[in-house]
Amino acid sequence: MHYGAERIGVTVLPTSVGNTERQIDLMQDLGATAIACTPSYLLHIGEVAEKMGVNIQKDTKLRTGILGAEPWTEGMRARMEEWLGIKAFDIYGTSELSGPMFTECSEQKGVHIWSDLALVEVIDPNSGEPLEPGERGELTITILQKEALSMIRYRIGDISVLDDEVCACGRTHPRIQRIQGRVDDMLIIRGINVFPSQIEYALMAIPDVGQHFQIVVDRKGALDDLLVRFELNKEAFSNKINDLMLIRQNVEHRLRISLNVNVDVELLEPGSLPRFEGKSKKVIDRRAL
Ligand SMILES: [Zn+2]
Repeated sequence: MHYGAERIGVTVLPTSVGNTERQIDLMQDLGATAIACTPSYLLHIGEVAEKMGVNIQKDTKLRTGILGAEPWTEGMRARMEEWLGIKAFDIYGTSELSGPMFTECSEQKGVHIWSDLALVEVIDPNSGEPLEPGERGELTITILQKEALSMIRYRIGDISVLDDEVCACGRTHPRIQRIQGRVDDMLIIRGINVFPSQIEYALMAIPDVGQHFQIVVDRKGALDDLLVRFELNKEAFSNKINDLMLIRQNVEHRLRISLNVNVDVELLEPGSLPRFEGKSKKVIDRRAL
């Protein structure tokens, strides 16, 4: 973000994280049009702004979010774009390879990997063999222009799918689909593989569910127990027990269908789960404790 920003006429304000009220003040005072942070932090900024009486859409010039460093879904993108009145773009990179360096184009159909800078492959995490475009596996990256510390076929541990079709924007650089999780993020629940991003995907398709959720895995006797705790959105949050029962049944049903495993759910009041200024911690696995 810093390097070369001046060449395209951008002023970068490196505000770091934390002190969210100040971030919102700065955004208003200086007329910031874009923000780069984690998706969780932008959600938090949106909520803090509401509490301050600031409407991001009307009271700021913010129009673009460049978001990454944790897996997020299309459903979350749609919600943030509508709520905050921005276009939200996915960005990708890892600190081992010089930080975020790849981003989506205006089509928002996957992150372009600049192929003059990096060679990206998707491999089978067990055998290490390359997979075909369209197949899901572990990303490896070789940075072609690094000199002092070269890394060849560096296994990042992120799960994605390579797309080598020419993009509608006209660029021929390959794209990677949204990061679906990390090889070591995968939860095995009663023998079934579950990624936290699958849970987010299912939840974000249900209008009654708010933006924040938490996954708790425990073992009762010999069996794994999956509990998904989620906040209701403000409109759905009512005292009518019948409505809440229906929402609960609907969410349990949708999660069971999408994950193929039984899930308990817990409905929470908006604002009751922890908020994060950096990467969020959505999974609590009590089996390891
Ligand atoms: Zn493109």
